[in-house]
Amino acid sequence: MGYQIPRGTQDILPGTVEKWQFVEEKAREICSRYNYKEIRTPIFEHTELFLRSVGDTTDIVQKEMYTFTDRGDRSLTLRPEGTASTVRAYVENKLFGLAQQPTKLYYIGPMFRYERPQAGRYRQFVQFGIEAMGSDDPSIDAEVMALAIDVYKELGLKSLRLVLNTLGDKESRKAHREALVAHFEPRIGEFCHDCQNRLQTNPLRILDCKKDRDHELMKTAPSIHDYLNEESREYFETVKSTLTAMGIEYVIDPKLVRGLDYYNHTAFEIISDAEGFGAITTLSGGGRYNGLAEEVGGPATPGIGFAMSLERLLLALDAEGVKLPIEDSLDCYLITMGDQAKEKAPSLLYRFRKAGLKADKDYLDKKMKAQFKAADRTNAKFVAVLGDDELANGVISVKDMESGEQTEVALDQVTEYILKQI
Ligand code: ATP
Ligand code: MG
Repeated sequence: MGYQIPRGTQDILPGTVEKWQFVEEKAREICSRYNYKEIRTPIFEHTELFLRSVGDTTDIVQKEMYTFTDRGDRSLTLRPEGTASTVRAYVENKLFGLAQQPTKLYYIGPMFRYERPQAGRYRQFVQFGIEAMGSDDPSIDAEVMALAIDVYKELGLKSLRLVLNTLGDKESRKAHREALVAHFEPRIGEFCHDCQNRLQTNPLRILDCKKDRDHELMKTAPSIHDYLNEESREYFETVKSTLTAMGIEYVIDPKLVRGLDYYNHTAFEIISDAEGFGAITTLSGGGRYNGLAEEVGGPATPGIGFAMSLERLLLALDAEGVKLPIEDSLDCYLITMGDQAKEKAPSLLYRFRKAGLKADKDYLDKKMKAQFKAADRTNAKFVAVLGDDELANGVISVKDMESGEQTEVALDQVTEYILKQI
């Protein structure tokens, strides 16, 4: 009887892990171009943080958190997303006091949600996300969206759609909220149980309901765009014109909402339109959260960010048939023949490796032919063959696996020789 991996989790094995490394590397590279610095926070936090920041009316908090009590009777939760921890760390470490502002951070790490697993939906998944705190300049909203788009595009995705909306500021949202309640209240009985609860706690989220999305009242629901005050309208216009000037295409969807109280102004999602992508097509989501730092005990700080899961990114790459340029080969495989040569192999190999060569050898006492086969499997660029005779003469033969050319090289020069060839 063996053990099985928990539902909704995955082992990422060699052969696949290189893809993960490649996309992580790309994300880091783009972040450094945009001057975002990495932050690493704990995998678990006090449960209260998520209740406060994600919000206790959300699906995440109500249904999806991995919460446990530790031996000291504290309620802890495996992080379901990265913004709460990042903003907590920003406040706790007083990053707002640093000279360089805004504070631009990114993270890559596992998140945990108790969900029904399916393609693109896991219980443990890796999110890459960024948070820019301390500026409410609309150009940083555009920057955040551009960064997300760049990651997808530079990896080779083409069927992308940036969907944009504004939620307005506090005042606009309040007016919109009242209109929503007035709109749905008379017939709220026709809506699902969740929506009935949302009517008073968070009516905006009714627009986001998957069960009731075809109800006729959904189509006629008041749009935030009719309730934007002057300032909010202007903010949105500047975000849009900045994107346009940057050459970034977008579509407006007045129904795109992010249901948390502290969300305001910009909200966006990036969708994959690739055929064969499956039911879940949202690659990433983000938005502005100007009230969040205050909510977790910090000074009033504007902020904006996004998060994407690498799982969905990799699915999209598959769906579009993108082959990542992953190089997985050794520089040199060392083959030996005879006892003395075999004895010499570890120190010679060690020399290769210290010189920076990717190198390996046989450890299973294989025959010559099988060693060559093993060398082939590693895609080695060069194979160095050392026999007892060669060893006695202080030479080694080096075969260029691409051209087939074989050269005899002085043993004490072989590292330099191979380095020069590659
Ligand atoms: P969905 O509507 O798909 O449940 P969400 O609103 O819960 O998404 P967010 O909380 O905005 O998603 O998370 C941002 C991104 O994280 C998503 O766009 C998606 O790429 C990814 N994501 C969310 N949940 C999962 C999951 N269970 N497995 C894999 N990726 C996920
Ligand atoms: Mg979800």
